Amino acid sequence: MAHRVAVNDGAAGSKRTSRVRVAVRLRPYMDKQDEKGEGPCVRGLGPQKLEIINWRNATETLQYQFDVFHGEQTTQQEVFLTSVKPILPHILNGQNASVFAYGPTGAGKTHTMLGSQEQPGVIPRAVKEVFKLVDAQEKEQDGWEYSVGMSYLEIYNEKVLDLLSPGSQDLPIREDKDRNILIPGLTHTPLLSFTDFDTHFIPASLNRTTASTKLNQRSSRSHAILLIKVVKSQRGPPHRQQTGKLYLVDLAGSEDNRRTGNQGIRLKESGAINLSLFTLSKVVDALNAGAVGRVPYRDSKLTRLLQDSLGGSAHSVMITNIAPEYIYYFDTFSALNFAAKSKQIVNRPFVRETVLAPTIAPGKRAREEQEAGGSGEPQNKKSKEGKKAERSSSPPVHPHSSPDSSVLERLLALEKMMMGSAERERLNLLKTVAQSRKEIQMLKEKQKELEDKANMFNKQNETVEKESKDALLFKTDLPPLHRKQSTAAKPRKQQAVVTPLQVSQVQPLQQCAVVCKPSQFLDKKKKRIQTEVCEGKENGGVDRPPADDINWESHLDSALLEQSRKKILQTLNSGSLKDLKSLQLIGDKKAKLIMGWREIHGDFTQLEDLKKIEGITPKRFTSFIKANILSSMGK
Ligand code: ADP
Ligand code: MG
Repeated sequence: MAHRVAVNDGAAGSKRTSRVRVAVRLRPYMDKQDEKGEGPCVRGLGPQKLEIINWRNATETLQYQFDVFHGEQTTQQEVFLTSVKPILPHILNGQNASVFAYGPTGAGKTHTMLGSQEQPGVIPRAVKEVFKLVDAQEKEQDGWEYSVGMSYLEIYNEKVLDLLSPGSQDLPIREDKDRNILIPGLTHTPLLSFTDFDTHFIPASLNRTTASTKLNQRSSRSHAILLIKVVKSQRGPPHRQQTGKLYLVDLAGSEDNRRTGNQGIRLKESGAINLSLFTLSKVVDALNAGAVGRVPYRDSKLTRLLQDSLGGSAHSVMITNIAPEYIYYFDTFSALNFAAKSKQIVNRPFVRETVLAPTIAPGKRAREEQEAGGSGEPQNKKSKEGKKAERSSSPPVHPHSSPDSSVLERLLALEKMMMGSAERERLNLLKTVAQSRKEIQMLKEKQKELEDKANMFNKQNETVEKESKDALLFKTDLPPLHRKQSTAAKPRKQQAVVTPLQVSQVQPLQQCAVVCKPSQFLDKKKKRIQTEVCEGKENGGVDRPPADDINWESHLDSALLEQSRKKILQTLNSGSLKDLKSLQLIGDKKAKLIMGWREIHGDFTQLEDLKKIEGITPKRFTSFIKANILSSMGK
């Protein structure tokens, strides 16, 4: 009789891999998401790096580093090859794995996981690959037989619902004596082939999508979890058996529903989403920090379910999807912080040398059509978006634009992957490879030309640059990322204009987000000194409050004063947008900045923290305190 054995690494490697690999995927810029025509606020810097404009100081950017960065031009196939395919062989050796797509609604999670018929995503590719691996093993006749099966479920409002058996009730999550996670009652459908998978998966997905429109876009608030199980049984004695599980998860949107003003959601639903994602972030954080203590798997259904497939000896990949438009700014920022928290965050000021208007339109790119093998997919909408993306940003960093050997490797891998398909498709692909190489060359030349121009111009500013030479921590050949002037009120039709190079002020080495980040561990004195340093730099030390603004407090009762300050601090930390706007001298913009700060840094520890917000100078801060304290005292 078959009996279970402890999960064993076998030939696939015995290293315990509790770390979660983190990839970030930036979807292409979409005009329709950017009504004000502000351009992108985030862009790639290389195969692992990206930068985002610093909301506190638009002349700076914050730079992050991840295991992998997938630029806007990355194809579905490249995402699969780099981030998912390498972990699949482990499933056939009794190990578990999980791939999950994280990020705000609209940033491309479903595109990454599910994709479309023309651009299939991780799920269809991974399932196909599992069958390919199983077939290869069976051909080898290694004395084992394999069976593949699937379950498909959704976690909505902390309820586990079976998508293969619609109408089922909330299912329990259990753990057996070997610490395997089980869901009694969950439909498990045996699969013989990929076609078989499609037959079950597509209707279930469609059910979910249809339900979602009826239920106020429920799909963006639930976690869709596909489980592929591979059971490997020894044909002869001692009839050992190993089970490998692969979880493919399209997570709920990570946007803060309170902040986005999603009025329709009931409190409970919003809380439940936050609970699962919040716990997931704690779990990933604990795993990546090499936690010796408790990993809080049990704090939410999602993490409980993924417990044996996330961390430990499992192979886990998180693909954080982000969008480049400004309307996603804070969600992108918090998604990046979630993804990068436990990694080495490169969070240094980006000191620019020149400001160069975006001029490069790198021409047609070999994109997803490679994957479709030039299958006659309608090009209109997609290519329009693609072109706009190209136009709107400086030369995007994507695999095809970095003329190093990895580009060729990827393209060759792509070619290899397509070997099994029709000859026509192969030829198309080869053509695309050649075309891509040509484009790389063109881009290189264009880039060189721009650099020469920039260098010439820079010579005139050598003196300024010299002074801050030491501050140049992170140089890049890319022109700086800057927010475009809103074009909302301007006439729609605009010609692409090549504006001359402008030299921006070279910023001294300072980053208030970093230097002045409030820390409980800093003593007050130190904190004061730091704040002063920052203010001095931001304001050139000239923005000092007038004398009567300094002494006004001395006339007031100190207990009352303290009470008022506390009340203001409380509003700053827990007030809604409306509450914040009800404060004196706080308008819509400042209220939003305060909410953004709170979201990123947590509570304000003292009122003085307000000065770390863009535009709140010491003078304004003093006026703010005075106005609010006096108004709260009814004076
Ligand atoms: P989410 O699931 O995170 O809410 P979607 O996957 O539905 O986001 O993506 C939102 C829109 O953006 C869809 O129209 C999708 O086709 C498009 N999209 C997302 N990522 C990409 C990409 N990498 N390339 C092209 N289009 C994309
Ligand atoms: Mg989605």
